[in-house]
Amino acid sequence: MSLINRTKHLVFEPGNVIMRQGDLGEVAYLIEDGQVEIFVTNPDGTEQILGHRGTGTIIGEMALVDNKVRTASIRATRASTLIAITREDFGRRLAHADPVMKMVMQVILARYRAVLHGTDSARESAEEMERDAVVSQKAFETIRMTHDFREAILGYQLRLHYQPIIDIVNDKVVGFEALMRWHHPVKGMVSPGTFIPLAEDSGLIVHASRWALREGVYMLNRLKLDHGMTNDWFMSLNFTGLDLAAEDFADNVSEAMQGTGVHPSRIKLEITERMLIDDPEGAIATLKRCRDAGLTVALDDFGTGYSSLSYLHKFPIDTMKIDRSFIVEMVQSPASLTLVKTIISLAKGLGMSVVAEGVEKKEELDLLMAHGCDMVQGYYFARPMQESDLVLWLEKRK
Ligand code: C2E
Ligand code: CA
Ligand code: CA
Repeated sequence: MSLINRTKHLVFEPGNVIMRQGDLGEVAYLIEDGQVEIFVTNPDGTEQILGHRGTGTIIGEMALVDNKVRTASIRATRASTLIAITREDFGRRLAHADPVMKMVMQVILARYRAVLHGTDSARESAEEMERDAVVSQKAFETIRMTHDFREAILGYQLRLHYQPIIDIVNDKVVGFEALMRWHHPVKGMVSPGTFIPLAEDSGLIVHASRWALREGVYMLNRLKLDHGMTNDWFMSLNFTGLDLAAEDFADNVSEAMQGTGVHPSRIKLEITERMLIDDPEGAIATLKRCRDAGLTVALDDFGTGYSSLSYLHKFPIDTMKIDRSFIVEMVQSPASLTLVKTIISLAKGLGMSVVAEGVEKKEELDLLMAHGCDMVQGYYFARPMQESDLVLWLEKRK
C-alpha cells in the first residue's frame, strides 16, 4: 500500500493500519482527531504495543528526517483524521534551519534508531553518508566560527570602518556610517555578510553592537580631541532585531553616551523594516525611548523588506535610507527611477530626511539631486575606510 497521499485530510477507521513496519516512510502525520497505537511485529508474528498517540500529536516523524523504512507500525484505535506532512515540505523548512540544529538532529536520530532497533550508521548508504558529512561540515564550521567570533569580541579583532555620508546640496560631509570588520587571526578579513548572521544566530551580536556603539562614540571624540575636527558630524550605527529586543537596549545606549561629551543627537541608530515587523509594539517603545534621550533613527535598506506603508508613520523614524538596488537600476530603468522619486516624496511627506545608498556614478548623483534627495553615500565619494584613512580623506577634502 502506498502511504503517500496528497489529499489533506485522511480518515482511518478503528483497526485500519496507517503505516507498516518495513515500508519506506515518506510522510509524517498530525493526528487532527482520534487515537492510534504504535506496535512492532516480532519475528514469530506476535505483536508488541509500544504506545498510544492521540489528538494533536505527530506520528511517523522519523520519515521526515531520514530516508529509511518504518521501524514500527501504527493502527487507528478510534476513527481518526490525519493530516499528512510530506518530506518535501519538511525538507524545505529544514533547508533554512541552522546547520548546528541539523547536525544535532541527525545525531540524535541515528542514536535513537540504534538504541531502538539495533540499526546503526554503518548501514547508511553512500549517498546518506555524504549528505550527513556535508551537514556535519557546515555545523562544525558554524560552531568553530561562532567560537572564534566570541574570541574576536574579547580579543579586539573587531574594527569599525567609516563611510562618509554627504549632504547633496552643499556637498558637505554630514556624518559617517560605521561598518564592522573582523580581522580573523587565520582567515584574515571576514566580511559582515558572513559574520553578522552568525553573530545573530548565537546571540553574540548584542555584545558586538555594544562594543560598536562605544567605539563609534569614542571615534567622534577622537576626531575632535586628536585631530582638531570640531564638526558636528553624526555617526550612523547598525543594529539588529536582537539588539533592539534586549530589555536594557535604551538604557545601554544612554549609558554609552554618558560623560563622552558627544551629544546624543549625533548618534543615528540604523534599523531595518524586518525588525519593525517582528515586534512593532516593542520596537516603537524602544525607539521612542532612544529618541527621548536625543538619538535619531534611520530606516535602512528601505524598499527591500516588507514596506508596510500602512504603519510606517507610526514608527519614530528620522531618516529613510533608500537601498542600493534601486539606485543601481535608476539610470537604466524608468520604473526604478519612479520608485526612487516616490520613496523620496513619501519620506519628505512623513517629515523624514533621505539618504541614497550605494551611489557610484555621477549620473546617479545628478538624478538624486534633481529629485530632492538630501544625502548620499557610496563609492562615488568614498568607500568605508579605517579611521586613519578617513582622517586623511577628511583633511584632503578640507
Ligand atoms: P548596510 O548597512 O546596507 O551597509 C552598506 C553596505 O554597502 C556596506 O557593506 C558598504 O560597504 C556597501 N556600500 C557602500 N557604498 C557602496 C557602493 O557605492 N557600492 C557598493 N557596491 N557597495 C557599497 P558592508 O560593509 O560589507 O556591510 C554589509 C552589511 O553588513 C551592512 O549593510 C549591514 O547590514 C551589515 N553590517 C555591517 N556592519 C554592521 C554592524 O556593525 N552591525 C550590524 N548589525 N550589521 C552590520
Ligand atoms: Ca546600514
Ligand atoms: Ca543599507
